[in-house]
Amino acid sequence: MRGAVLYGPRDVRFEERDTPRIIKSTDAIIRISATCVCGSDLWPYRGISPVRQPTPMGHEYCGIVEEVGSDVRAIKPGQFVIGSFFASDNTCPNCQVGYQSSCQHTEFVGTAQAPVLRVPLADGTLVATPDVPPDNLIPSLLALSDVMGTGWFAADAANVKPGSTVTVVGDGAVGLLAVLSAKQRGAERIIAVSRHPSRQKLASEFGATDIVTERGDEGVARIKDLTHGVGADAVLECVGTQESMMQAIQSTRRGGYVAYVGVPHGVELNGETLFYAHVHLHGGPAPVRRFLPKLVDLVWNGKINPGKVFDLTLPLEQVAEGYRAMDERRAIKTLLRP
Ligand SMILES: [Zn+2]
Repeated sequence: MRGAVLYGPRDVRFEERDTPRIIKSTDAIIRISATCVCGSDLWPYRGISPVRQPTPMGHEYCGIVEEVGSDVRAIKPGQFVIGSFFASDNTCPNCQVGYQSSCQHTEFVGTAQAPVLRVPLADGTLVATPDVPPDNLIPSLLALSDVMGTGWFAADAANVKPGSTVTVVGDGAVGLLAVLSAKQRGAERIIAVSRHPSRQKLASEFGATDIVTERGDEGVARIKDLTHGVGADAVLECVGTQESMMQAIQSTRRGGYVAYVGVPHGVELNGETLFYAHVHLHGGPAPVRRFLPKLVDLVWNGKINPGKVFDLTLPLEQVAEGYRAMDERRAIKTLLRP
């Protein structure tokens, strides 16, 4: 089969790779219906995270189960399934408290930009839909694999509840879906921080009530203005830079919550600033698996349409153009069809 391989900065190739097969008795092999390029794929693509050797890419996936190992019980060939980028057994102590992305037996699922994928710990990792979905649901189901699950975790970790005032820092796919998540959880006011007209528009469609274009200290001042000088109850940080993290912490009201789901690059927190900020701080790699059953239900019943973040769809063989379009900010998120 042919799949995506990253060789170095801005060098993604679509080339021959070994077709995955069952290695452990708990594995499943799935035929990918759709995969995509993640904002976090751009860190190595841009050379900010070093690429030491040719690396297969992709960690968002959904598709049809082709084969399962001899110890797989719940997942069956023919089912349409979605899984997270971290495989999890869903039984260890970390999984049982809802932190499947810290599973004691976790493995990263990182070769999904391909027609066929091996998923470890299939019973714990994969969630099957009620039936094989119609084609128009596939983008929204694919979004659950990472970006929607991550946006939802941000809202959950920041204790967003009916009536909350929420600020979302970041207008990538995760930020936009954090807006959708906050809306779905009943937030009354949602302030989206975004400078890009097309992203502001989608944020508004997803439920943003206010848009702030300023960043850093100016952004903090604008958010304070909009919240009677108090700050937001919940701030969802979906970028991962020093500036976005500090904007998030300083935009939060005393006793409020900051959730951070942007992978940090060079973020350092000052202990004294943190001490006097008086905020709850919680984040990390989203335990997407915890939320998958609920999110599948919401998509299946037409309650949410997170697939709207895909504004470019390409055949998988044009994966390099998919990265380029996101790198150049011509696309919010690229969906790839094998
Ligand atoms: Zn576990």
